[in-house]
Amino acid sequence: MKRLFLFITLTIVIFFAFSIFVYADYSPQYVEMNIDGKNINLEKINILINGEPLISDVSPVLYESRTLVPVKFIIDYLNAQIDWDSKNREVHIYSNDKNITIKIDSKDIIVDGKQKSLPYGVPAKIMNDRTMVPLRFAAEELGFKVDWDSKMRKGIISSAKQDILDIVVNTDNVLPKIEIKASGIVYHREMYLDNPCRLVIDIPNTNLELDKDRLDENGVFKLDVNTYPVKMIRASQFSKNPYITRLVLDMDRNAGYTIIQGENEKSLEIVFTNLIKNISNDKINDREAIIIETTNIPKYNVLKLNNPDRMILDIMDSFIGQAKDKYNYKTNNVKGVRVSQFKPDDLYNVNDNIVRVVFDLMSTEESNLIVEQNKDKIFFYADNKLINGLNYEKGKEGGKLSIDSSSNSKASVVYDETNNMLKITMSKYNSNIKNSALILSDAFIDNIIIDTIDNNRVLYIKFKQNMIYSVISNSKQIDVNFEKKDSTKNNKYTVVIDAGHGGKDPGAISPINGAIEKDLNLKTALELEKKLKELGFNVVMTRKTDTLVNLYERAYIANRNDGDVFISIHYNYNDNKSIKGIQTLYCPSYKSDVKQNNQYPFAEYMHNHLLSGLNVEDKKIVRRPGLVVTRETKMDAVLLELGFLSNYEEAKKICTDAYRKKVAEVVGKALVDYFK
Ligand SMILES: [Zn+2]
Repeated sequence: MKRLFLFITLTIVIFFAFSIFVYADYSPQYVEMNIDGKNINLEKINILINGEPLISDVSPVLYESRTLVPVKFIIDYLNAQIDWDSKNREVHIYSNDKNITIKIDSKDIIVDGKQKSLPYGVPAKIMNDRTMVPLRFAAEELGFKVDWDSKMRKGIISSAKQDILDIVVNTDNVLPKIEIKASGIVYHREMYLDNPCRLVIDIPNTNLELDKDRLDENGVFKLDVNTYPVKMIRASQFSKNPYITRLVLDMDRNAGYTIIQGENEKSLEIVFTNLIKNISNDKINDREAIIIETTNIPKYNVLKLNNPDRMILDIMDSFIGQAKDKYNYKTNNVKGVRVSQFKPDDLYNVNDNIVRVVFDLMSTEESNLIVEQNKDKIFFYADNKLINGLNYEKGKEGGKLSIDSSSNSKASVVYDETNNMLKITMSKYNSNIKNSALILSDAFIDNIIIDTIDNNRVLYIKFKQNMIYSVISNSKQIDVNFEKKDSTKNNKYTVVIDAGHGGKDPGAISPINGAIEKDLNLKTALELEKKLKELGFNVVMTRKTDTLVNLYERAYIANRNDGDVFISIHYNYNDNKSIKGIQTLYCPSYKSDVKQNNQYPFAEYMHNHLLSGLNVEDKKIVRRPGLVVTRETKMDAVLLELGFLSNYEEAKKICTDAYRKKVAEVVGKALVDYFK
């Protein structure tokens, strides 16, 4: 029995060890909070509410083992109101049927007039001048279910169960409108399926409560609509554990649609018709704009034409509605606006309903053409500005685009060489840029289209010619550096330089002169960057400042940027102070899931060049499959240990500018020959 128990314990330990490995990607993040006059580091907690991440300027945090959230969360997500009583330091929370008073720094609360204690005794606190309240208590009192995902350290909140009471189709407009009526606030997930075309809408936490005689023998509600683009609606109780009502709309074709919350929020509306309500001319933040108001949130296409200069905006699944066919609006660069119900040409499907808006322009040479969509409005600008959330610095041979991003998001990057198109996908929750189109009239970029696909914001950057590029993200933005590709130069090749350690990880510290490895690594890496750029290489750095970058993130940066080689810079340490010399570490390809090439030749090549170029002792080439950065990078990768901080002679030498310049020179020369 005892052995069995041990066996189980061991299995659990192994299982957890394995989980930690798999989720090594997830590491807790901390935030410094000022509480009662002291600065305390607290773990940030992610919250999913009805399947979507909580968005908040102040992160929920773990405080004395309970999650506290900014009080605004209650208004934004739990459909309740709050009042702040600053004199008594109390928060009053009230919903339709609940009245709660929470006192700052006190575990005493009042629920519907009755004095109670907070179940876990952790009170609401003021942190960084913000009121933070206990999440589980507030959510549960307001009828939400709270779960805790211990593996991902995430709180999961779901709304109370509701009934679906009716499904109604309204065909008064040209295209139908479907209304799903519920007993309370409901949320949904949607997906489009092809062959045959279906729109599937799942409403979690709901029970299908239609009269029995409206359901068939299998409990399915069927309704023939037969109004383009919907053929039929089917609804059923898809699951009772968890409760999900599923609607399937059999469609004529993949038509544009919007699902919106009805007026009292107790219903969902699926709308297909988009009508143009109005077209106006106004100043938005000091910019001349033409504003197209629509009844829906339509998809659109843009096109720029010359002779005469004009910009075409095709609004899909739309009718002209109340729009006039001509507007004499004049802005800096617009001469007038024409609107028509466009008869689909070869680019479109015969059945498409398209409203074509033509902006007649003075000249397209001097201005950027920008289309921005914000809910039911489309804005058109022709000026020298950019899309909000985008920054662009132009150089002689290339430039830098910076995309605002609210968190250190993992953007995925794909470059299509045939179409000179860079596609960047990031979570829409980390991005403030709106769906838009930007037509630039410059030497490098043709246009930028920003679209939302599922939960992602997708940027398509169409270059005028092939570019080499690098993409680096930090907690505020994603930087895309690009440069014209010149096949005669080294800039065909991308070298990723990784300065080891950083931030709160100092690496080794010299017992001789106190030199800190992370600083030497960075100085050497920056020197090497300078050298390689002089030689014309395309260089990507995993860090350029004293910050700690996750090891996997370092490898992802290299993979995302299509690096040709990866070089990690380190300095060595040994308790035996007589040991000195250069060591090169690598991961054999058979120990890596991502490597294709035999990794030894590059390691040997670099090692030999360093030995002869630096005239140092040989501490050999060492196989080290446990190193994340060399194992998880797809390209040839080495980790260079460029000398021992623990050796008297070497510690002095490696702290000099001259040594670092020499290293940069030797590595640079080696790479030029390597790629020849
Ligand atoms: Zn190191």
